[in-house]
Amino acid sequence: MRIAIIGSGPAGFYAAEALLKRTDTIVHVDMYDRLPTPYGLVRGGVAPDHQNIKAVTRVYEKTAARPTFRFLGNVCLGRDVTAEELRQHYHQIVYAVGNEADRRLGIPGEGIARCTPATVFIGWYNGHPDYRHAQIDLSVPRVAVAGNGNVAIDAARILLRAPAELEKTDLAEHALEALRNSRVREVFILGRRGPEQASFTPPELKELGEMEDVDPVVAPGELAGCAIPETAGN
Ligand SMILES: Cc1cc2nc3c(=O)[nH]c(=O)nc-3n(C[C@H](O)[C@H](O)[C@H](O)COP(=O)(O)OP(=O)(O)OC[C@H]3O[C@@H](n4cnc5c(N)ncnc54)[C@H](O)[C@@H]3O)c2cc1C
Repeated sequence: MRIAIIGSGPAGFYAAEALLKRTDTIVHVDMYDRLPTPYGLVRGGVAPDHQNIKAVTRVYEKTAARPTFRFLGNVCLGRDVTAEELRQHYHQIVYAVGNEADRRLGIPGEGIARCTPATVFIGWYNGHPDYRHAQIDLSVPRVAVAGNGNVAIDAARILLRAPAELEKTDLAEHALEALRNSRVREVFILGRRGPEQASFTPPELKELGEMEDVDPVVAPGELAGCAIPETAGN
């Protein structure tokens, strides 16, 4: 059975592995990606100072090494090839293209200078080809990050890490250079709901306290009325 998988992020690779390890059918997988490099947001999203998470690509390398697997980069479905054309060559097509666009809030002032979607900022520091030339203005002392999920924590950490810490990561070279000259000194993470609803994990919050030259401040008033489990005391 010949199968085309569109997208080489985690979804594409796990689908490929599940198909290729079948013993009842011989499966040939061709994986397409519009980028020249595989791994989707593991490469272009996951924070460059979280190498242990990025190491999941070792599992994908094993899949890619299977003899009935091929990777075809720089091929964009809809631009270089159509679904109809693929149907002529494959028995099945798996769409694993992720969710690449940022979600606009539709509020006044969105899109003004120095108001940047996380997709752009994160793609920029990860060296994603779409955002390589984004203009990120780091000449200001204070930055607000709107939203309190794990991407907010990633953005805050990268904005505040000391250059010596960033140098140990695989942050894109152009971003490293810009962050070396950054004048950002304070980052405020703005959550519309309370700490109990924050969608980052306790280890991610704790990591902020382990950075050089950074003092995380949680306003005590914000914790009033929160049910904090006894075991979470530290
Ligand atoms: C900033 C950030 C930090 C994150 N941190 C973590 C973390 O610490 N731990 C964790 O578990 N998860 C993390 N995630 C989430 C994780 O990266 C995603 O859940 C995961 O990558 C989604 O996998 P996917 O395969 O569905 O999509 P993607 O990884 O987005 O892959 C989709 C692929 O499809 C390709 N594609 C798109 N359109 C086309 C087309 N028309 N033709 C050909 N190819 C196409 C894209 O180039 C891309 O390579 C993070 C995400 C972000 C944004």
